[in-house]
Amino acid sequence: MSTIFTQIINREIPADIVYEDEMCLAFRDINPQAPVHVLLIPKKQIVSMATVEMEDQVILGHLMVKASEIASSLGLGESGYRLVVNTNADAGQSVFHLHIHILGGRKLTWPPG
Ligand code: AMP
Repeated sequence: MSTIFTQIINREIPADIVYEDEMCLAFRDINPQAPVHVLLIPKKQIVSMATVEMEDQVILGHLMVKASEIASSLGLGESGYRLVVNTNADAGQSVFHLHIHILGGRKLTWPPG
């Protein structure tokens, strides 16, 4: 089932896009939890980390490399940042299209809530 993120990929609703290529899209979170809060998503409709398959390994690797590049391009490479992938109910996943949160620009506490 498609989500609001498919609509963003298809330009049916607006988003503040910071990076795009053939496999992925990155845009600013509408409800930022840090000075920099970007969501990085695969264009393929993968529901969550709980449903990834071996055939997704190239996409997943691509996302991790791009997360690093995007974080650096947003000025977080030196100061640091956190990548978060909320998965299913206990983690509070609210959009069921896999996404990596890239969070930075302030000191992040640990452990997360
Ligand atoms: P999660 O709770 O991990 O599933 O994260 C979903 C994220 O999507 C939340 O941080 C929301 O603020 C964000 N979000 C929902 N709708 C939009 C939208 N239209 N544009 C940008 N971010 C969104």
